Amino acid sequence: MKPLLGGKGANLAEMCRIGLPVPPGFTITTEVCTYYYANKRTYPSSLRGQMEAGIASIEQQTGKRFGDLKNPLLVSVRSGARDSMPGMMDTILNLGLNDQTVEALATKTSNPRFAWDCYRRFVQMYGDVVLGVQKRPEEDHEPFETVIEGLKHERYHQDVEDTKLSVADLKELVARFKKLVKERAGKQFPDSPWDQLLGAVGAVFGSWMNDRAIVYRRKYNIPTEWGTAVNVQAMVYGNTGDQSGSGVAFTRNPANGVKEFYGEFLINAQGEDVVAGVRTPEPVAELKKAMPKAYGELERIRQTLEKHFKDVQDFEFTIEDGVVYMLQTRNGKRTAMAALKFSIDMFKEKLIDWKTAVMRNPADQLEQLLAPVFDPGEVAKAKAIATGLPAGPGAASGQIYLNAERAVAASEKGEKVLLVRVETSPEDLRGMIAAEGILTARGGVSSHAALVARQMGKVCVCGAAAIEVDYNSRTVRVDGRTFKEGDWMSIDGTAGKVYAGQVKTAPSEIVAGLIDGNEAAKKTEKFKHFQQLMQWCSDATRMSVRTNADTPDQTENAVAFGAVGIGLCRTEHMFFEGDRIDAMREMILAETEDARKAALAKLLPYQREDFAGIFRALKGYPATIRFLDPPLHEFLPHTKQQQEELAKKIGVTGARIHQRVEQLHEFNPMLGFRGCRLGIGYPEISAMQARAVFEAAAEVQKEGIKVRPEIMIPLVGFKKELDLQIEVVHQAARDVEKEKGVKLNYMVGTMIEIPRGALTADEIAQSAEFFSFGTNDLTQTGLGMSRDDSGSFLPQYQELEIVTKNPFATIDATGVGQLVEIAVTKGRAARKNLKLGICGEHGGDPSSIQFFEKVGLDYVSCSPYRVPVARLAAAQAALRVKVGD
Ligand code: ADP
Ligand code: MG
Ligand code: MG
Repeated sequence: MKPLLGGKGANLAEMCRIGLPVPPGFTITTEVCTYYYANKRTYPSSLRGQMEAGIASIEQQTGKRFGDLKNPLLVSVRSGARDSMPGMMDTILNLGLNDQTVEALATKTSNPRFAWDCYRRFVQMYGDVVLGVQKRPEEDHEPFETVIEGLKHERYHQDVEDTKLSVADLKELVARFKKLVKERAGKQFPDSPWDQLLGAVGAVFGSWMNDRAIVYRRKYNIPTEWGTAVNVQAMVYGNTGDQSGSGVAFTRNPANGVKEFYGEFLINAQGEDVVAGVRTPEPVAELKKAMPKAYGELERIRQTLEKHFKDVQDFEFTIEDGVVYMLQTRNGKRTAMAALKFSIDMFKEKLIDWKTAVMRNPADQLEQLLAPVFDPGEVAKAKAIATGLPAGPGAASGQIYLNAERAVAASEKGEKVLLVRVETSPEDLRGMIAAEGILTARGGVSSHAALVARQMGKVCVCGAAAIEVDYNSRTVRVDGRTFKEGDWMSIDGTAGKVYAGQVKTAPSEIVAGLIDGNEAAKKTEKFKHFQQLMQWCSDATRMSVRTNADTPDQTENAVAFGAVGIGLCRTEHMFFEGDRIDAMREMILAETEDARKAALAKLLPYQREDFAGIFRALKGYPATIRFLDPPLHEFLPHTKQQQEELAKKIGVTGARIHQRVEQLHEFNPMLGFRGCRLGIGYPEISAMQARAVFEAAAEVQKEGIKVRPEIMIPLVGFKKELDLQIEVVHQAARDVEKEKGVKLNYMVGTMIEIPRGALTADEIAQSAEFFSFGTNDLTQTGLGMSRDDSGSFLPQYQELEIVTKNPFATIDATGVGQLVEIAVTKGRAARKNLKLGICGEHGGDPSSIQFFEKVGLDYVSCSPYRVPVARLAAAQAALRVKVGD
């Protein structure tokens, strides 16, 4: 039902069905939204009639009437996309009020303060959302809030709470709001309830295309075509007095995963107050004292929700004179840490099976668990300057900025940014994305800041009341000190603490346990849960996960994370270290084959050592080793001074070096003399590399460790290219076998990374024993788009939705993906047991991994710290393919 009714509408219907108390209402489907945008923002002709029937049905169930002068029905108009988009679409409450119905409501309830409070809220929300009276770029505050503050100061000479405003104050506010609307929107505030309703519905549909909704959809890859639904629902009132209130709760703690009733509420308030962070709410446990019956009912609802939805729910409720009403439920957004704990605990509670538990951990969030925490020793020394709510776990240090634009600008300059706000609102989204962490002075664990931080995996402390944020002077005052924009602060989102300056970090328990072998870390629950999850991943996965590693250290780390081999060992990195670069340069500058061989002979021992170390670290797992790939001029010194220094070292003239650098210059190096073209031009380079691999293999084999080198020839487009290189490799292998008296167990294959290679994969597979898809170059050459130059146009391409995702991060499945599929099909047709892997950047990207599972690759390969993510993504892909999802 979600595609049609939206998430909110579908779950409201579901809650009704299982007998939970939900105010009556109806849903205008997402199809109407689609129609609206397909037909120049007009509605289907049958809509009005159906809405009238819907309102009539609510009237009948509530005994109230829309626009009535005795017992008026008020409704809320709420957007509801398929997936919840927190704060993106705006809700209007108390719709149906005007100067007459407000009096009726006051009389009917004998509570004029309540009636006028509703009216004031309504005019404010409607003015903002429907009539567009909003903060202008040069303003730091919402115009309506400015009016409220003005009145408070006029009448009370201070910032009193909203609940302290009198009927007369509220009447005055309504008048001033209407005047503000007239000034800014240039039209009268609509009085007729039906005009109000139609306007509100239009605004909800309109907001689907507002800037921040578009930003959000882009970040989370939500298609524009989905559209939003609109829910029209009878109001229940949390603002009738102190036996009423409104709250947001989670069935378990979404920050750390603990099984506890978690949430917060405000007495005498309507729902928006809780989320907006205007007042800091109280923890839901306090309700036990204030309204024990309502609390008991909420506890019952909490249990019912989890049993029914079998997942942690994030729900919104309102209490009207002691009676609980449910206004929303959805699967709760959670941090990676909470997701892990939820999944393992719910499995133990037999609410879900292990496969579901695997699926419950978002692969692209898993890296959060590996992120550093503050060093315990450093934290003990540092003094917290403020405390707030731990809303997004982890540790973050950054230079503070007080608005989103400046935060984004600073982060674009490469600064680490901490966004500090009184509270955040959807306009701050860009700044939140750019920031390492978020700190707010007001708002609770369900405030906007907390919600978004949890979802994005940002470190967040909110409601740190001790900090005074001054937007005008761009300073933060706390603990007797003043921090300017650009000053450093640190926040601990696990403990809810704020520190001055930069606090040193330490590895997470998982990294400490796996990589550093820290025994205490291994005993933590987080570590154990992580290992359980990884075990399930191994049980579920079809593809294996290898790593891209060039050193023994990286290899060891990756193996500790569960990699079962190297998918890409880039040998050129080995030539940059220490003195090696000199020998490399000497080789490049050599004029004769003999001179080149002499230089190569100097490089050989280095390479052999590197490979031996890697083979040992692999403990018998295979290693795909790519032969020299980049254009030679990348190795040469480019400044005059560097050239002179090198000249002295290797005993040639500076002019000679300069000349050679010029000679090697290429107009288009990416498509130039590189890849196997180097090895074909200078077979002695490949011969040296092969010899280094095999001598290392012989050496390590003799130590009793299995060694399985897979030599990979890059950039092959023609079978003949590969054949020429294979011959060189085999020759080296025969020589080493003879010299060392060993038997070598190796393979030779190729990287498929240019379209011709993919298209002639059947021919190439006659010679290649394996393919590894080099999807970075395959994407560059397939799209004819240089990755390094794409920065100037790709962002716009994404904005215009020419491409939905960055093709260098997530494989272009429909385009470049076809090249992969063709190569898989043709390659396997020519060689049944052809081994297939991928070693591009895409090997660590969950949605690309899903694609590689579908086309049937044997393994993916990614950087060491990405290995757990890839294992999880591969397991999930296998589980999805099994259920035919
Ligand atoms: P969002 O998508 O931003 O969460 P909602 O549509 O859920 O927006 O509305 C926000 C809040 O408004 C709700 O949490 C609830 O407290 C309040 N609200 C919405 N509809 C009603 C209603 N019919 N009666 C009382 N409060 C409502
Ligand atoms: Mg909202
Ligand atoms: Mg809501």
